[in-house]
Amino acid sequence: MTRTALLDRAAELDAADPLAAHRKLFLDAADDSVRAYLDGNSLGRPLAATVDTLTSFVQDQWGGRLIRGWDEGWLSLPQEIGDQLGRVALGAAQGQCVVADSTSVLLYKLARAAVAARPGRTEIVVDRDNFPSDRFIVEGIARERGLTVRWLDVAYDGGATPDDVSAVVGAQTALVLLSHVAYRSGFIADVPAITRIAHDAGALVLWDLSHSVGSVPAELDAWDVDFATGCSYKYLNGGPGAPAWAYVAERHLPTLDQPILGWLGSADPFRMGSAYEPANGIRRLVSGTPPIMGMLPVQDMLSVVDGVGLDAVRAKSEVLTAFAVDAVDTLLAPHGVVLASPRDAARRGGHITIDHPAFATMVPELWKEGVIPDYRNPNGIRLGLSPLSTSFEETALAVEAIAARLGAEV
Ligand SMILES: *Cc1c(COP(=O)(O)O)cnc(C)c1O
Repeated sequence: MTRTALLDRAAELDAADPLAAHRKLFLDAADDSVRAYLDGNSLGRPLAATVDTLTSFVQDQWGGRLIRGWDEGWLSLPQEIGDQLGRVALGAAQGQCVVADSTSVLLYKLARAAVAARPGRTEIVVDRDNFPSDRFIVEGIARERGLTVRWLDVAYDGGATPDDVSAVVGAQTALVLLSHVAYRSGFIADVPAITRIAHDAGALVLWDLSHSVGSVPAELDAWDVDFATGCSYKYLNGGPGAPAWAYVAERHLPTLDQPILGWLGSADPFRMGSAYEPANGIRRLVSGTPPIMGMLPVQDMLSVVDGVGLDAVRAKSEVLTAFAVDAVDTLLAPHGVVLASPRDAARRGGHITIDHPAFATMVPELWKEGVIPDYRNPNGIRLGLSPLSTSFEETALAVEAIAARLGAEV
């Protein structure tokens, strides 16, 4: 494929994309310094509507209602947005999701609650290729509670499979913690199969959906998941540091024993009582004051995803990553670039990773010319293709820019 053929193909795909008009809902960089933004899986672009949402919140809500705002709706917002998220993106019935903390903190709270619910069991299973927080938090809890980490080794272009999990779970397993979509390879784990295997061994599961939520549909209730968490600043476009969300299956709520006992997770926060008594329902996972402004952009994005339908978002995502893989195969593979993601679109999330020894020094140069993928140690470029905000043209421009730097004939 020549440069012209690649751009022509991208133009055809953009013209045929039923969701193309949604790209206009997102703000562009004010100064035209971005030619291709392929890092929406790390920090989603802002929706234009979010400018008004935040401005009016500061003026009318914070400025106008002041402290009264807490009673007039702010306090229930984490659960309202949690319910909306559950319905639009997670396949979760009401009352099981809440927005709070960061993903790292929620991983800690949920993993601690899970091991507390399996007393006497001594092992936590996690894969070596999981995101650092997920691994570090498991190691920290193992140290704290005298448990053992059972590490899974996974394929370089894949992730944990049901067979991998079957091989290590048993009567000693308290918890299996894995990612729905692997942050590096983009591999989609078989959540229902792995969850069943863990349950058959008497263990609980905690799924990290940071790299899937908002781009790959989930059915947490139907899959019988125990606990889940994920980011909202990636495909949910919540903005830098937007609070994360957690899911706790209804059956675990009455006994959930989480380790950070704050006043807003207590039964009657404004009584300022002398002893902690947990709230009923998902609020018992909450610790302190919710970051209201950080969660408003998430609500904007959930309305957009709700309007489009997550299945349509996923359909575009599959075409977009398939186009990227094609472009990599034809323009970059001849220069030694290797695809480090699944070739089967059904097993691949919204991003792909490609490897080449030149990438470590190349990424800063690409950023200077307005082509923004991200870099993952040691040799990886991740092409994050956020389905509603990324065009086929941007994708082609990025692959072409990489090819040009590898000295290709383009
Ligand atoms: C992005 C990501 C995180 C980030 O956690 P923070 O606490 O928001 O920094 C955690 N886990 C996975 C799998 C991620 O992809």
